[in-house]
Amino acid sequence: MLDLTNARRIGIIGGGTVGWLAAIALRRIFDVDVDVTVVEAPTVFPLGPGEGGSLNLTDTLCRNGLDVDVFIGEADATHKLGVLYENWRGGGISDHYYRMFGGSGIPEIECRVDGFFPLLSARIAAGENLHTYIPGFELITRRASQNEIDELLATGASGLYPSYHFNDAEFERCLRRVGLARGITSRATVVHGMRLDDRGHVSALQLGGEELEVDFAVDASGFARVGLGTVFNMHWCSFANVLPTDHAIIFELEPREPPLQCVTRATAMKAGWMWEAPLNRSIRAGYVFSSRHADAATALAELEHQYGYRVEAKHELSLDQGYFSTAWVNNFVALGTASGFVEPLEAAPAAHTFEQLRNLECVLANGSGIVPAQAIEAYNSANARCWTGVRDFLRLHYDCKGIDTPFWRDLAGAELPEGYADLRACFQKRTPRFIDIQPYVGSGWQSLFQQIDWISVAAPLGVVPPAAACAELRRLSAESQTEVQAYVDRLKGTITKISSTRGWMH
Ligand SMILES: Cc1cc2nc3c(=O)[nH]c(=O)nc-3n(C[C@H](O)[C@H](O)[C@H](O)COP(=O)(O)OP(=O)(O)OC[C@H]3O[C@@H](n4cnc5c(N)ncnc54)[C@H](O)[C@@H]3O)c2cc1C
Repeated sequence: MLDLTNARRIGIIGGGTVGWLAAIALRRIFDVDVDVTVVEAPTVFPLGPGEGGSLNLTDTLCRNGLDVDVFIGEADATHKLGVLYENWRGGGISDHYYRMFGGSGIPEIECRVDGFFPLLSARIAAGENLHTYIPGFELITRRASQNEIDELLATGASGLYPSYHFNDAEFERCLRRVGLARGITSRATVVHGMRLDDRGHVSALQLGGEELEVDFAVDASGFARVGLGTVFNMHWCSFANVLPTDHAIIFELEPREPPLQCVTRATAMKAGWMWEAPLNRSIRAGYVFSSRHADAATALAELEHQYGYRVEAKHELSLDQGYFSTAWVNNFVALGTASGFVEPLEAAPAAHTFEQLRNLECVLANGSGIVPAQAIEAYNSANARCWTGVRDFLRLHYDCKGIDTPFWRDLAGAELPEGYADLRACFQKRTPRFIDIQPYVGSGWQSLFQQIDWISVAAPLGVVPPAAACAELRRLSAESQTEVQAYVDRLKGTITKISSTRGWMH
């Protein structure tokens, strides 16, 4: 059991976005007389990849009393309504599909039979794209301004959930300002180690020449990972065999004429993929690649060829994708990059971090600071499941054979993780279902990527072939099939029937 009812101080290692967010969240949960201290080493360099936010970003802001408009102003945030995937099937920039942040109230999502979405299956069966079912997609086709997007989102009729691109360094500054105003203490120094008591609890953070006594500690030290890897020696579950990229260069692109794109661009490249996060003052971008197939110089040359102007890498870094099997030990928990990391495809690192934090808050608040060991075990097990779900969802994105370079050929021949390989076999016969992703969710956690997200990526890539969608439509009643056919006819603006040889009309 962990009893924090008499806690006097919470110590947080690292003053990045995760450290300050955790501090703000814990400040809310603990009594005002409990000191919350962020120990922040001077940042060696601000990474500045430009964050593509996730769907749980707005909830994280609101739960922590962070005004969204203030966030937008201070973190240079712009709307992010989804992700644009270019060239993942090997057809160049014009070969694209979208995964939109679709919300509720859309007929295609409301209409569900036996765990699948017949109208979406009909689109897949008919070879139609998926993203246009969301009413707000027209914002993207007509390159709506930020104000127009605000207005449409406010009507509630866009079928979209909002998220944002933002400048991570500015967001960190914003969080720090709010945190200090809410009474959080900041210590500008480095944590060199931790003193453990005879139960294995962290009793003090060791700063240069002095100790900071703590009752609960959070490791938010990013890639430094000062806790789980060094002090607690936890097992690292590597994704290196599944997710192929291990290197990144980060750069800025010349700003384009407004209005800004309100999606993150994710473009498949020769040895990996690159992102563009459009902010008001710059376009933050990066290329994540496999160091077995490229180096920074070849990656830059490929980028320069693509853009037609000189591209300068601001930072170059190695990425070790994976996670610690145990993130919460006794009175110590690691959050964000300190607990694990994946490439920024689908903004998965942020999405996972926000979910970790939400659950940490739930466990501490719902137990009134008295936490049984079983609840900690459940948190760890749900955290691990969540990482596995992220791994498999990201692996799905690479499940295409259209690009003819050594990197993509190697991937096409690579062994798939067992769980994903099995799901893939199911997707050959039917569209992704809730029961497929349920095993990735444990103990109060929310799924980071929903059934619709899996469908939105698997169908365009052909992992769900049209024949699979036809097969599940054939199981509908005759009446439902007629309704679905009418939907397709409306969609195509014709009365053309999908021929019964393609499978789904009797
Ligand atoms: C290439 C790349 C692209 C990314 N793109 C995205 C994206 O598009 N979307 C997304 O959601 N996420 C993205 N991420 C992830 C995202 O940047 C991180 O999740 C986010 O920055 C949170 O970082 P953090 O606070 O955990 O760590 P950091 O930002 O690294 O902060 C850690 C802090 O701890 C401090 N520290 C370290 N050691 C010590 C110590 N011993 N004592 C005291 N302080 C210490 C450091 O100085 C630093 O200030 C990307 C990451 C990378 C690497």
